Amino acid sequence: MTATSGTLYIVSAPSGAGKTSLVKALIESQPQIRVSVSHTTRAMRPGEVDGVNYHFVSREEFLERLSRNEFLEHAEVFGNLYGTSQRWLEETLAEGYDLILEIDWQGAQQVRRLMPQARSIFILPPTQEALRQRLTSRGQDSDEIIERRMREAVSEMSHYAEYDYLVINDEFAHALADLAAIFRANQLRQEAQQRRYAALLQQLLV
Ligand code: 5GP
Repeated sequence: MTATSGTLYIVSAPSGAGKTSLVKALIESQPQIRVSVSHTTRAMRPGEVDGVNYHFVSREEFLERLSRNEFLEHAEVFGNLYGTSQRWLEETLAEGYDLILEIDWQGAQQVRRLMPQARSIFILPPTQEALRQRLTSRGQDSDEIIERRMREAVSEMSHYAEYDYLVINDEFAHALADLAAIFRANQLRQEAQQRRYAALLQQLLV
């Protein structure tokens, strides 16, 4: 990565922990942060928009892109394939933007190996009951699917210790402040500030 490149963040959470809402609220106030739009083979949910929430593709197209090495990482989650476009990621970081990948623990492991400088954040629900309620209140899935998603959530959460930061999404505003604090602290790192304030530092030291 070049000296001007942004920071890569991995954000993982079990389905229903509020990850997408938190990330959306974070980037509304932080124009220097971009969110990667993954490719997926899963069906579009009501309200989702192709190219905004995901690039929705057929399994055939996904596998074709995979064979062309277009994905930095990919994983099968709940029987669907998901992947992060490598080219867009590299271009966006090179332009100096901080970049968020909303990916699962399998993708996080692959990205950490390839880009050890990435910072990773895990978002947890305050209780299992709150998680179940959030999964139920979506109203889009049957009881059987909700139970399966609960089991998948516990399995996803079992990877929390692999992450640099843990955020508990009890109160949305608190969790958002915690998330913003992680990004802010990172932006204030000495090497980043040195680049930003090169002229000031030169002037202070004469
Ligand atoms: P959903 O289908 O509910 O939007 O996402 C299901 C899971 O897939 C979530 O844990 C989400 O973070 C993960 N996911 C979404 N995009 C990607 C991706 O590009 N790569 C990987 N590894 N996981 C992803």
